[in-house]
Amino acid sequence: MRLLIMGAPGAGKGTQAALIKDYYKIPHISTGDMFREAISKQTKVGLEAKSYIDKGDLVPDSVTIELVRERLLKDDCKNGFLLDGFPRTIAQAKALDQMLKNLEIKLDAVLNVDIDDRILIERIVGRRTCSKCKESYHMTNKKPKVEGICDLCGGTLIQRVDDTEETIKNRLNVYHLQTEPVMDYYNNQGLVKSVDGFGDIEKIFEKVKNLLGGIDDFN
Ligand code: AMP
Repeated sequence: MRLLIMGAPGAGKGTQAALIKDYYKIPHISTGDMFREAISKQTKVGLEAKSYIDKGDLVPDSVTIELVRERLLKDDCKNGFLLDGFPRTIAQAKALDQMLKNLEIKLDAVLNVDIDDRILIERIVGRRTCSKCKESYHMTNKKPKVEGICDLCGGTLIQRVDDTEETIKNRLNVYHLQTEPVMDYYNNQGLVKSVDGFGDIEKIFEKVKNLLGGIDDFN
């Protein structure tokens, strides 16, 4: 199964992506996670991306496209993948088309996690992530058993540097201006399946499975 997951920052893409990855047994490729890892390792890409990410701006297409191109060539993508956070511009969408054409494969679907901007800001400000295993939490909606500590691995929970209110407003603007046209691009190809991102995580995932089909449909 070859999937894209799209939606505004805070729509719950990452949470649904983790469930999709486990259920459909495909690698979850998040460009945001790849950039954060590159920043923590202080690689060339990380150093280049940091200033954009801290402000809530998009990292230049050339850097992002190359990162994804290399990732899609890895062996674990042979039987499918879930791309999260890419493409975010029309130029990236066109570059992805070319990459897939070269690999002689096609996308099965683009999942759009749909949610109102007003809910997003509250969601993002309360968001916390485990520094070790990347499990996500929320200060009011999905609290850890012990404050500040991951239930799964005992790691410390941290807030992303770009999850402040000011940066979020910019990220939402960037999303509406640059990424929504990408949704139209895939809508025109009949690939988009939308799910309401408001509500219980498991119930949303049930709807996602209904939209995408059972795992046997793709084996
Ligand atoms: P995310 O974790 O998907 O919200 O991404 C965090 C940040 O990484 C974004 O606000 C951008 O600065 C950067 N980023 C992630 N994916 C992309 C992309 N496809 N194109 C450009 N910048 C990206």
